[in-house]
Amino acid sequence: MAGEDEGPAIGIDLGTTYSCVAVWQHDRVEIIPNDQGNRTTPSYVAFTDTERLVGDAAKNQVAMNPVNTVFDAKRLIGRKFSDPCVESDMKFWPFKIIPDYPTDKPMILVSYKGKEKKFAAEEISSMVLTKMKEIAEAYLGSTVKNAVITVPAYFNDSQRQATRDAGLIAGLNVLRIIVEPTAAAIAYGLNKMSDIKGKKKNVLIFDLGGGTFDVSLLNIEEGIFEVKAISGDTHLGGEDIDNRMVNHFVQEFKRKHNDKDISGNLRALRRLRTACERAKRAFSSAAQASIEIDGLFEGIDFQSTITRPKFEEMNMDLFRKCIELVEDCLRDAKMDKSNVHDVVLVGGSTRILKVQQLLQEFFNGKKLCKSINQDEAIAHGAAVQAAILGGKGSEKVQDIVLADVTPLSLGVHTMGEVMTVLIPRNTPIPTKKEKVFNTTVDNQTVAGIQVFEGERARSKDNNLLGTFELRDIPAAPKRVARINICFDIDANGILNASAELISTGQKNKITIACDKGRLSKEEIERMIEEAKRYKFEDEQYRNKVKAKIALEDYAYSVKNSLNDKKINAGLPLADKKKIEDAIEQSLQWLQMNQLAEANEFEDKMKELESIWNPIIADIYRPGADGGWDRMRGDTPYTASASSSGGTGSKIDEVD
Ligand code: ADP
Ligand code: MG
Repeated sequence: MAGEDEGPAIGIDLGTTYSCVAVWQHDRVEIIPNDQGNRTTPSYVAFTDTERLVGDAAKNQVAMNPVNTVFDAKRLIGRKFSDPCVESDMKFWPFKIIPDYPTDKPMILVSYKGKEKKFAAEEISSMVLTKMKEIAEAYLGSTVKNAVITVPAYFNDSQRQATRDAGLIAGLNVLRIIVEPTAAAIAYGLNKMSDIKGKKKNVLIFDLGGGTFDVSLLNIEEGIFEVKAISGDTHLGGEDIDNRMVNHFVQEFKRKHNDKDISGNLRALRRLRTACERAKRAFSSAAQASIEIDGLFEGIDFQSTITRPKFEEMNMDLFRKCIELVEDCLRDAKMDKSNVHDVVLVGGSTRILKVQQLLQEFFNGKKLCKSINQDEAIAHGAAVQAAILGGKGSEKVQDIVLADVTPLSLGVHTMGEVMTVLIPRNTPIPTKKEKVFNTTVDNQTVAGIQVFEGERARSKDNNLLGTFELRDIPAAPKRVARINICFDIDANGILNASAELISTGQKNKITIACDKGRLSKEEIERMIEEAKRYKFEDEQYRNKVKAKIALEDYAYSVKNSLNDKKINAGLPLADKKKIEDAIEQSLQWLQMNQLAEANEFEDKMKELESIWNPIIADIYRPGADGGWDRMRGDTPYTASASSSGGTGSKIDEVD
């Protein structure tokens, strides 16, 4: 449980394309807007020659810097380089991935400040989490330490652990990792005791996000959530819908402009995609949307319109696929759709009216739960859970207990290459299961234990989670030495496997967390240190830009004030020349030294002040009429580094 002095506990939905943060405050959930005023933040991190950008700022510059703008870290986290999913995803990423040796972890390769840098997916995700933490801290005015983070229901043990590690690197104390569908159900209070007393409730969560589609069937009983079945498609979401529109307009551009093909021009495509996403969002309320992009390709402006029916038609197969996957999920759970009590919409793409209509029709006109913004529902539920675990929730939420299930069966490799299952798929967690095994050859002294997850009969067709050995088995004929293997999964879905020699009465126990491919403690510590350094560097960069803008602002303000009649009249010619030269020289210096350090800008500013202040003081001697009023502050133009006038407003855009 979280300590009182650690600030409020937050809920973070760490999404593939967008993330969202929320907090329980004043007896309700508040979704926290970021520095741009947006309630969701792109899960993007960009590296440039001068700085690191996270969120909107990173996504906004992607067209100019595609190879160093990292997204989709959630598709990599907790996976190995040789994972077929990584292999196929890689083909579509503009940034480079290389395997780490010997761990086989995929590493993201970027150029940052002119140097090549390698990052693990955990580090990229930690940067997004840090951003979400900072968004919350700015809003709450206090530090934030504790958080609940959500993961998809299909995330396996190592993906959950890696997400937890990302939280650690971000300096968060991860109170709990909960699955997204559970968070969504909590958001809707579908577990309200008064509604479900003595009853079971079946809830279908339909989550169509930016890059993925997840359907889950939850069972809620007396405050206990159990994921009964999951289905979905890891490459079906808003971005595919955007692509359809982009292709449509690429064709239209060809038709309108002499067969010119913009599809080879990354920047043009990115600009078109941004415009398409905007048009798509507009369809939630309008029946027609327009696209207007100046100088899209070879200086040609592009304008067009698209209607909602056309938009729906070009995506209909994707929408229908979603409904088919809902059917799969119900079939898997052996449940008829009439037994589903509630259907919950989650994910930004469920704001598409046609998707809602098809789903409602499938459920014979049933009213869908969509009163909470779909792209905020998961963070909403995570915040409720965070409040409960942090001891800050109100009475109405105190009774919730979460029962997640294992998404895949867990077992060990045994004779004949088969996987012997200890914990079957969909077992509610936490859980602990034991099974006794024996040696297979005479005088066997070492037993190698390989832990697998998956549904296939042969272990090599499943996913190897980790291996460990039980050594010093006393010599004995085969099948005499007996080994008790125990799998223990905690409430976070994290597995501990242990083996114990029992046949001789002598205990020899080894416990491991299934940590193949996981970051070591040392690596996490190093990353925490680096994260601090990046934060420091980011701050330094921001200060530098602030100081640069303050100097520029000051130079122009003084320059402008020379046009002031009163000042002009009282200014001796020699002084005028002196200050004009000084301004000119400062502006030239600025041009040549865009990358100077904060203190150099500050020094330059002091230099200019030391010339201007005595001159202006001479003109505005105290007692002279009204002059001071026109100046900012008490002393004329002693602009500070945090100057807010003129170009100063641009400071916001840096981060
Ligand atoms: P994630 O999949 O990362 O969890 P979200 O659930 O936030 O992300 O969904 C993001 C997707 O939702 C994006 O593709 C975005 O374009 C889409 N989206 C957001 N609002 C709308 C809307 N009004 N209509 C259609 N799509 C939308
Ligand atoms: Mg999501």
